[in-house]
Amino acid sequence: MEESILVVNCGSSSLKLALFDQKNRKIASALAEKLNNSDAFARISGDDNPVELPAGASHEQALQALVNEFRNRQLLTGTPKAIGHRVVHGGETFREAVLVDDATEQAIEACAELAPLHNPVNLAGIRAMRALFPDRPHAAVFDTAYHHTLPERAYRYALPEHCYTQWGIRRYGFHGTSHYFMAREAARLLGKTPATTSIISAHLGNGCSITAIRDGLSVDTSMGLTPLEGLVMGTRSGDVDPGLFDYLATRGVSATEAHRMLNNDSGLLGLSGQTNDMRSLCELADHGHEPSQLAIDVFCFRLARYVGAMTASLAQLDALVFTGGIGENSPRIRQETVKHLGLLGIELDTGLNRDHGRMSDGFVSSPDSRFPVLVIPTNEELVIAQEAERLASA
Ligand code: AMP
Repeated sequence: MEESILVVNCGSSSLKLALFDQKNRKIASALAEKLNNSDAFARISGDDNPVELPAGASHEQALQALVNEFRNRQLLTGTPKAIGHRVVHGGETFREAVLVDDATEQAIEACAELAPLHNPVNLAGIRAMRALFPDRPHAAVFDTAYHHTLPERAYRYALPEHCYTQWGIRRYGFHGTSHYFMAREAARLLGKTPATTSIISAHLGNGCSITAIRDGLSVDTSMGLTPLEGLVMGTRSGDVDPGLFDYLATRGVSATEAHRMLNNDSGLLGLSGQTNDMRSLCELADHGHEPSQLAIDVFCFRLARYVGAMTASLAQLDALVFTGGIGENSPRIRQETVKHLGLLGIELDTGLNRDHGRMSDGFVSSPDSRFPVLVIPTNEELVIAQEAERLASA
């Protein structure tokens, strides 16, 4: 099918591949995990049988195997119209999605310093797919790009100027594709245009970020130079006092160890001592596990503080929007967050909040709420497919 679009999302040891038809319907998806490990495996969604991979398969080998499998199953016939690639960091170079050529690859490589865990593997996916489909257009869609409209007062840190001018130290923001989708979908649900819609978008998954969107544009966001800043996340601390590094150093904790602690051992996992999975935490808290309840409390309180902070960037608020695995699926977390927002006059409807969200979008606020609250399932793959199709058609 010449009109189909492939979407590639390569993580450090996993990858997702999705296939969209010309009407933007997802017709297949696949997942490979534990790549570069002896127990690497891959599966087509909806089928428990594994797709055969070479032992210790690389990202390239897994992509090749999954594309072959799409072909064997007649899901992909001929060549796709375009291939869309998720790239985490576009630095200040990429302010929007672009078609990939050799120069683009080099520029993505140059941004790898800012996202050493992500950009190199994103690039490996691009190179593998360009080798498989050398004649097809490939689009790179950046997590940072949507935030290129942040005003300087929002993206600059109060550091000596050379930190920014020489080293590019500034706030970039992430989850841009998801926040952009929220801006678009919230406008649709509100019966408005994105250009006249202002929302606060809370993306709460394993990674969490919140963005103030003014008239369709990102004007403030919680993640910064790296995706560590801001909200409490699954294993990431979010905001801490920068004085912590020196304090830890005096206790023999190196910068590398501190980095690992803040990224991998903190957040919900660190506070609860049990798990980074919100669903499990809620169950543990229900069984009286106090550290799990504390993790939930800190998560929701930090989030509510940030909702308040985001209002400083808005002249109107058309909706507070929840998305991501937690935002879409947890009435409890939405309720526990909104309970701190009484002064803003935000109230949920207990019934709507309980019933809504799971795989569907809609309002969860009470009629008395000063501002509407929406739940919208995110769809970053769809945005990447649409961007790839748009660039390929241009
Ligand atoms: P994501 O990274 O967007 O896939 O989100 C993953 C997070 O969503 C994990 O912490 C899950 O525990 C959480 N999650 C998924 N379903 C639920 C649920 N029903 N209640 C609470 N958290 C959930």
